[in-house]
Amino acid sequence: MLPEIFLQNTLTGKKETFKPLKAGEVKIYSCGPTVYDFAHIGNFRSFMMADLLTRVFEYAGYKTTKVQNITDVGHLVSDHDEGEDKILKKARLEKKDPFAIARFFEDAFIEDEKVLRILPPDHRPRATDYITEQINLTQKLIAKGFAYEVNGSVYFRTEQFKTYGQLSKNKLEDLIAGARIEINDEKEKPLDFALWKKAEPNHLMQWDSPWGRGYPGWHIECSAMSQKLLGDHFDIHTGGEDNKFPHHECEIAQNEGANGGHKSVNYWLHTKHLLVDGEKMSKSKGNFYTIRDLLKKGWKGEEIRYALLSAHYRTTLNFSENTLTQARSSIARMREAHRICQEKSKDQYDINENFILPYANEFQRALNDDLNIPEALATVFTLIQDLMKKRELNQLTAAQARSAGLFFEKDFDQIFSVLFPEKIISESEKKEIETLIKKRKQVRNDKDWATSDLIRNQIESQFGVELIDESGTTTWRIKQ
Ligand SMILES: [Zn+2]
Repeated sequence: MLPEIFLQNTLTGKKETFKPLKAGEVKIYSCGPTVYDFAHIGNFRSFMMADLLTRVFEYAGYKTTKVQNITDVGHLVSDHDEGEDKILKKARLEKKDPFAIARFFEDAFIEDEKVLRILPPDHRPRATDYITEQINLTQKLIAKGFAYEVNGSVYFRTEQFKTYGQLSKNKLEDLIAGARIEINDEKEKPLDFALWKKAEPNHLMQWDSPWGRGYPGWHIECSAMSQKLLGDHFDIHTGGEDNKFPHHECEIAQNEGANGGHKSVNYWLHTKHLLVDGEKMSKSKGNFYTIRDLLKKGWKGEEIRYALLSAHYRTTLNFSENTLTQARSSIARMREAHRICQEKSKDQYDINENFILPYANEFQRALNDDLNIPEALATVFTLIQDLMKKRELNQLTAAQARSAGLFFEKDFDQIFSVLFPEKIISESEKKEIETLIKKRKQVRNDKDWATSDLIRNQIESQFGVELIDESGTTTWRIKQ
């Protein structure tokens, strides 16, 4: 029986008990980056939330499938079918090929993700690899009367989708009244949005379609890719709060227009904005940071990770150098507590006791309560305080230290991933290390010291860890 997880669902406006479509499994789609520039810390706050969500489900025992797309075409400067494609604009300014621009920033994004220890998604589809699916979905919407072609472009007939606005809590009639009428608009109604746009001959990214040469709109890609990879009804969709309207609203309209009107996503989760020094981040104000900017200033990946994680995803995070300083000292405190536990647990250890259980239970309860990171962290700091007090009074037993040490490594760090500096040892690497240690133990029992040394060297060089032989047992730790 898996523990209950509660999620604040934007669609209903309520905190709900998560019920998976398939027992023990969760399928997550997360809107990925538009790869026309380096992603900034505000973007990463939302990607970090998707990482946290996946880790919390894994920790609770679920099998997760996460899809996070790469938008490499079709995202216009304005979300309302206006302006230039963001990637084409960058390509024009830098006089480069737009595909090369997209690939360059995609690679940079993946590097930044690694620095922040964000687990890679199971699928990372690129919009340009799913043009056929986007065309097919558009055709389906035309066939069902939800879309129409005009002059080589295709638009969604928004007013026909009666629940449009349900996610962002906008009323359709208010949206209709407020929609701006554009000059030379070829749409039937101002609220309609583009599924496919006709390309002029000199447009740099274009494909064949039943409506002539053109390129897809931004919203259609997430519908086409999520349907293809997760099915037309899946568990969770995440994004930044700025995605809520119109992007996610349009996704719902496309999904449910095409699938006959049944629900396409059960839970919609949105991450709040981030402010820097109390203000909206902007290049002109000089408070605009990419991950690379912060690394250059001497901050480490795990410190940026901790800083971005430390506030609840549904509250505004006011980011500053002070947030990073605090992150640095919190991590140091956790590492020190972990070191003390490791030290102490080397003693002959006494009867097994469930010292850590109440802390571990509270830690998980907080995480399962709509990813309540501040409460989960409060529990960790209470644990550290209690450990230090016991140590001072000389009451910390080896069994307690051992259980707390394991909690830091296996529970806390499965979620936070900040305990060990830089080098990350994956679960499969850990298994390989343990297998090699067992093999080494056998040859040592046979007094084959040469092979034992060879295996030690192999483990240490291959995984960047060091082995510690003590009182007949071998443990390992990351080389400092
Ligand atoms: Zn999206």
